[in-house]
Amino acid sequence: MSQSIAVIKGDGIGPEIMDATLRVLDALDCGLTYQHIDAGLGALEKHGTLIPQESLDAIEKYGIALKGPLTTPIGKGFSSINVQLRRHFDLYANVRPAISFPGTKSRYDDIDMITVRENTEGAYLSDGQEMIDDGNTGISVIKVTRKGSERIVRYAFELAKNNGRKKVTAVHKANIIKTSSGLFLDVAREIAKEYPEIEFQEMIVDNACMQLVMNPHQFDVVVTTNLFGDILSDLCAGLVGGLGLAPGANIGEKAAIFEAVHGSAPDIEGKNIANPCALLLAAAQMLDHLGMNEKGDAIRQGIRSVLETRRDMVTPDMGGTGSTDSFAQALVEYVQG
Ligand code: ATP
Ligand code: MG
Repeated sequence: MSQSIAVIKGDGIGPEIMDATLRVLDALDCGLTYQHIDAGLGALEKHGTLIPQESLDAIEKYGIALKGPLTTPIGKGFSSINVQLRRHFDLYANVRPAISFPGTKSRYDDIDMITVRENTEGAYLSDGQEMIDDGNTGISVIKVTRKGSERIVRYAFELAKNNGRKKVTAVHKANIIKTSSGLFLDVAREIAKEYPEIEFQEMIVDNACMQLVMNPHQFDVVVTTNLFGDILSDLCAGLVGGLGLAPGANIGEKAAIFEAVHGSAPDIEGKNIANPCALLLAAAQMLDHLGMNEKGDAIRQGIRSVLETRRDMVTPDMGGTGSTDSFAQALVEYVQG
């Protein structure tokens, strides 16, 4: 059976790292058919809009998109493509794995955790911001719903279950923000009872920050509300050596979009030196999502092996002497044994 996925090559280094990633997916024989769709600067030139309706329709039809970084032109009244996609498809879960890899500058080895951030409510409401008192007082509403909390916590437990993970930590500030954060914690406790095989832990956000820095190996899956999740997921990326190796997914009921966390890096476009790892790891996350966990693991293992043993094939940002193409080539050789 063949699964079609929508592929957005993206702007800047997007096409280079996407080509590298698709080569590796092909070598893995995942049975995927790629439907290339337009978005970003390319789409703007061709269709006069950053994300044409037919691209939205394709993502809706196939349900899965692999996406290179997109540039949103600044100062021309465009709203961010990522925000548009998140709203259009109600992509409520932002899922960010943080995995240690050899040869990266980081404080710890062997970190392997995932943050699951609620992405539609919490403190980041566009209509919950107000200046009053002649501009001398700013009000920001925090809104947490039972439905929103249920679906994000359930997503985190299902993710843990389907990926053989042992523990879910709910991060909150229910002791102070008794209303919104309190509701989130209550719901997390209720949902946790449905998953007795998975250990449930609750942690106050300030303590979670300290624990992540001092003893990160205790964490497995972390689930939290929008603002805390935004901060903690970047903290976790920092723990494993920065954004260069950070993939992410935005998941909704009807669509899931997998991407690198970094931007389009126009400064190195076309030079064949862009590091494809983050997009490759996003592809691995996509394979996990599609139930092909072994193939996802093969990508992660392959990256580990190439970083350890094939320094001549690794991109310069990771201290190697290779290129985008050679990294892909080394991975293809790895997966073909
Ligand atoms: P955008 O406007 O799309 O965010 P950007 O240049 O800000 O583009 P970032 O991801 O923020 O993109 O990049 C910051 C810096 O990191 C840039 O100097 C870029 O060259 C470098 N960089 C980003 N991604 C990669 C990558 N995959 N490989 C190598 N260098 C990268
Ligand atoms: Mg940037």
